[in-house]
Amino acid sequence: MTAKPNADSNLSLTPDYRPLELEKEIREFWEKNQIREKLELKIENCKGILGYVEGPPTLNGIPHIGHARGRVMKDIRYRWKTMQGYYVPFWAGWDCQGLPVELEVEKLLGVKNKRELMERVGEERFIEECKKVILKYHREWVEADKRLGIAINQNKAYWTYRDEYIEREWQILERAWEQNLLEEGYYVVAYCPGCQTSLSSAEVGYEGSYKEVEDPSLYFKFKVANSHNEFFLVWTTMPFTIITDTMLAVHPEAEYAKVKVGDETWIMARQRVEPVMQELGITKYTIAETITGNRIEGTKYDYPLKDIIPKQAELETKHALVHKVIGEDFVDLNTATGVVHLSPGNGEEDFWAAQRRGVPIFAPFDDEVKFTKDAGVFNGVFARDADTLVVEELRCRNALVKVSKTKHEYPTCWRSHHKLVWLARKEYFLRTDKLNSKVLEAADKITYYFDEPKNRFIAFLKEGKPWCISRERIWGTPLPMWTCEKCGEKRLVASKKELIADALEKVPANFELHKPWVDRVTLKCQKCGGTMHREDYVLDTWHNSGASPHARFSDEEVEKFVPIDFLTEGIDQTRGWANSLLLEHVILTGKPESPYRAFLFQGLTQDAKGRKMSKSLGNVVETTKLLEKSSADLCRFYMMRKCAPIDFMNFDLQELNRRSYQVLSTLYHLSRFFLQNAEFDGFKPAASQSKLSKIAGTLQPPDQWLLSKLQSAIKEYTDKLGVCQFNSALAILEDFVIDTLSRLYVPMIRKELWTDDPETLQRRQAIYAILHFTLKTITLLFNPVTPYLSEALYQKVYRKLDPKLSESVNFESWPEPNEKMRNETVEDAFDTLFKCVSLVYATRQQAKLKRRWPLSKVIVAAPEKVVNTLRNVEALFLELTNVKAAEYVQQVPEYVAGENWVSASEGEVNVFVSGHRDEKLLGEGLMRDLARRVQALRKERGYVPTDILDAVHIAELDDESTGLLEAYLQEMAELVRAKKVYLHRSRGEVEAEWCEYQVDDKKTYVAIH
Ligand SMILES: [Zn+2]
Ligand SMILES: [Zn+2]
Repeated sequence: MTAKPNADSNLSLTPDYRPLELEKEIREFWEKNQIREKLELKIENCKGILGYVEGPPTLNGIPHIGHARGRVMKDIRYRWKTMQGYYVPFWAGWDCQGLPVELEVEKLLGVKNKRELMERVGEERFIEECKKVILKYHREWVEADKRLGIAINQNKAYWTYRDEYIEREWQILERAWEQNLLEEGYYVVAYCPGCQTSLSSAEVGYEGSYKEVEDPSLYFKFKVANSHNEFFLVWTTMPFTIITDTMLAVHPEAEYAKVKVGDETWIMARQRVEPVMQELGITKYTIAETITGNRIEGTKYDYPLKDIIPKQAELETKHALVHKVIGEDFVDLNTATGVVHLSPGNGEEDFWAAQRRGVPIFAPFDDEVKFTKDAGVFNGVFARDADTLVVEELRCRNALVKVSKTKHEYPTCWRSHHKLVWLARKEYFLRTDKLNSKVLEAADKITYYFDEPKNRFIAFLKEGKPWCISRERIWGTPLPMWTCEKCGEKRLVASKKELIADALEKVPANFELHKPWVDRVTLKCQKCGGTMHREDYVLDTWHNSGASPHARFSDEEVEKFVPIDFLTEGIDQTRGWANSLLLEHVILTGKPESPYRAFLFQGLTQDAKGRKMSKSLGNVVETTKLLEKSSADLCRFYMMRKCAPIDFMNFDLQELNRRSYQVLSTLYHLSRFFLQNAEFDGFKPAASQSKLSKIAGTLQPPDQWLLSKLQSAIKEYTDKLGVCQFNSALAILEDFVIDTLSRLYVPMIRKELWTDDPETLQRRQAIYAILHFTLKTITLLFNPVTPYLSEALYQKVYRKLDPKLSESVNFESWPEPNEKMRNETVEDAFDTLFKCVSLVYATRQQAKLKRRWPLSKVIVAAPEKVVNTLRNVEALFLELTNVKAAEYVQQVPEYVAGENWVSASEGEVNVFVSGHRDEKLLGEGLMRDLARRVQALRKERGYVPTDILDAVHIAELDDESTGLLEAYLQEMAELVRAKKVYLHRSRGEVEAEWCEYQVDDKKTYVAIH
């Protein structure tokens, strides 16, 4: 007997597929041999450069499976393009600053808000804590990447908080400043009272930020000045905005009604009279008069809270339109009363209406959105808490009509979930609205792969609002704007060197481009000689990451790597990174160009039940924890195979270990089966490609069929990768491994390998060449998705057979389909063959005839074309169906109506099988039943397929079975690779390790050695 496999050897394949062990070994191999580093050298003689910039994960949490899914897509693209001969700067990057990180640190420090943070912690220590936190999470991310097999270059990572990055980000602002696209001014922004900062309009629309909330539904009335009993009827869900009310608006062309209700007259849109009256429960009313909106314009009303908000009285003296009615087209006549109250300090449209008329903006709020003393009695009250107070004040003044509750969707902060408040604040803006046509032109040239996210992205870009980039926070890129305290002159300084050179006082050694250090730099005003101080803002973190194609590279690198070839991130990035990248690039270049050619948006990853993963539900799957117990290859394959990238994916750990395992395990076992047989016959694969062409003339139909199928698999798989349909791409590989190779091809050639006859050695060598070529090709195709398994097979099968191969599978070239190997005639013939084979299987199933039992005859009644095809591959047909003879007819013969016959049909093809078995067939059937058990026992005992057993013993068969079997002992010995098979009456006749089996309900014993 030959030696059993040596399980300790690094170059051997264990009898079963153990992905966790294998992945650990391969990880060590990659590290020890610096495979990743060597790939970096490929830039020297590459086919071309495909630019890449990492969509930087925010270092404020532990990576979970949703992140893993996106990172695998990036890695697939990288490995695939690298094998195609391109160089890709697949370098990591980390998003380090901004609110998400600040909030994480605040939580760790146990601080509730910004004021407390400044008092208890202070800026300097806070910045230190932020840096500690990002380093902590950085380690988590690197570990997760390592386990997942992400071949990203961690050494060349960019960090968005570093001075050199910030300086280059500043250059983009400088370009905006030069083009008059950077402006300061009052503007209504969405403001989060919890985070105490404004949000960009992109952030307001984030996934899940709209929540159903309960608010007051308030009908109130403002009295027409100097009238006896005339009122404007108005509706709002935000009573606190009555404090900042300065005007009413009507639609100038709409019809308004004066409605008599008791002894009062209410003014509202004519079309709203009935629905509003119904809602108010008022049945007795009459319309006294109608009038067009423009005739109401200019009407003054008595603002009812002047006595408790003295500032409101003062405002009336500042501008003639304060507390008057104006006409505006945006007034909606389909809801409420068609009379809208305007609070320019709290609403965007209101703000612009006031701006256009020069009406002063009244926004008496502090940073916590509490009213200041300008709001009179409301001084110190949080805006939303003022709602009930305002309602009571209106009631006292006969201004309240009705108050109830209403539920509606209202935007909340995407981070802290506080209800957002719209506030007029002094902010800095990028006037991206002025660039909108260029931005849309650029966006139109991008490849998105799927229509839905494309439409979503374009629709968002079309809004084209100015981008509020200033944030009243600490840990971020400082806005590099200095303002003169004397004359108001502004100066943008976009370089550290310039700052140090121009600083009024010497800059200390630990100076870095962050608060508080940068705030201490003062400059001299070149206009008036006064002192200039920095504007106390940091930048929107999306501006920070959106600068990456410029900021993470040097100028020379930008030349080489931008535009970026391919990016992929979550669908939420339509409003995030995809947007900020595009805007900043258009600002920087002034051209209608995108910094990236293609953007694949990914769907969200949810739990097995389709729920969003969240800390509160406890259903978050952390990458590293998962990969301690599960295989990275399996996860990668499973996630990509399960659904299209844009689909929402329900991650199910149970599913992971079923089909995906079967596919990878089958590839593993096929490779091992090939290796063991090939080694036994001393197969030398050197240049198996040229070997293939040498044996081209001797190829058998199954070989031709397999090679032809392989070509279409290569082509279709590659095409699908190109359009990011990873799921259907992998379906092609799965089908090839499970069906084409394992279920169909190997059974056709297995018997030919099952001998060591020197006369057939050449044929065996031919089969090895085919299997070698096919399996190696498939292993390469799998590499982008299952890099560990591919590397393991590459090392342990292909490099073992041919040490002259490249050091790693990653250095191999991507397989190309070979048209010469295509053979449609053979493929068609095999389609017919397999169809007929499965019909025979169907008849066996009906008659409960095991496939191992040989049958005497099959009759095929089919059109001539089918019959001719089948005749050409008759030997295979008989072998696959395990039938002794075939008969072909056009008409079904009468005798098949007998009771022994069973049939199955599909279309015009009918097959008939006789279930009658004579002694010979019974004997052979029994032999095959027993042989199957011996095969299983061989495997169990660790024999490799090429090992030859000394003896097989079978004991305690009854007399009838013994008689049936005797004629088949020699055939059985060949089938199970044993020198001889012995029959015994009782187990006592020979000393052996017996195994008990049930064969046809009778106990039988088998032993091997
Ligand atoms: Zn917030
Ligand atoms: Zn000045």
